[in-house]
Amino acid sequence: MRYVFDLEERPSVALAGSEARFPVRRVYCVGRNFAEHAREMGYDPDREPPFFFSKPADALVESGCDVPYPPRTENLHHEVELVIAIGKSGRNIPVEEAESHIYGYAVGNDLTRRDLQALAKKDGRPWDTAKGFDQSAPISAIHRVDEVGHLRSGRIWLTVNGETRQDGDLNAMIWSVPEVIAELSTLFELRAGDLIFTGTPAGVGPVKPGDVVECGVDGLDVLRHRIV
Ligand code: MN
Repeated sequence: MRYVFDLEERPSVALAGSEARFPVRRVYCVGRNFAEHAREMGYDPDREPPFFFSKPADALVESGCDVPYPPRTENLHHEVELVIAIGKSGRNIPVEEAESHIYGYAVGNDLTRRDLQALAKKDGRPWDTAKGFDQSAPISAIHRVDEVGHLRSGRIWLTVNGETRQDGDLNAMIWSVPEVIAELSTLFELRAGDLIFTGTPAGVGPVKPGDVVECGVDGLDVLRHRIV
């Protein structure tokens, strides 16, 4: 095959304890998957179920790398999230089989231009400019399931300059990880290499240039990045 310009390398994520890397296909995200976060955004979690959106795979940023403050926003928000790495393809996956499709887990920060998101919501427009901008998806190394097991509960937290902003528990997800996989696989065929950001707990808020952000989930590497 001859291409009219050089192909960029496929985006990939580091694997904890390995030289090998996890090649990424798509990045899906769950919106409002924690009741307290849905409420802080002005929604009733009992009336509106979570939903999906996506980010481009080349928006991923390795832990330890600086994240430039994006253009066209004055309200960049952090959202710490558990990330599922899919290792086995499937569609219409039953909840009971969902965990067998998981290769591993990571911690991510679903960076959001909150002001552009508010405008999009007001006008009923897509969220791409709010969610899918360049370098909008910092992510830790992926830990394999055979190393850390399945993460069904445990602390999920985020600090800015050492100050705790988000502090929740994975067991408070509205859709559990298996339910997220089952639901998403009725909309899209999930393929090995897909990542799913599973939603953020309450406490989202702004970051600014110079801030150091740390994100953690019990059992996984801490994701650390600076906003510059
Ligand atoms: Mn999010």
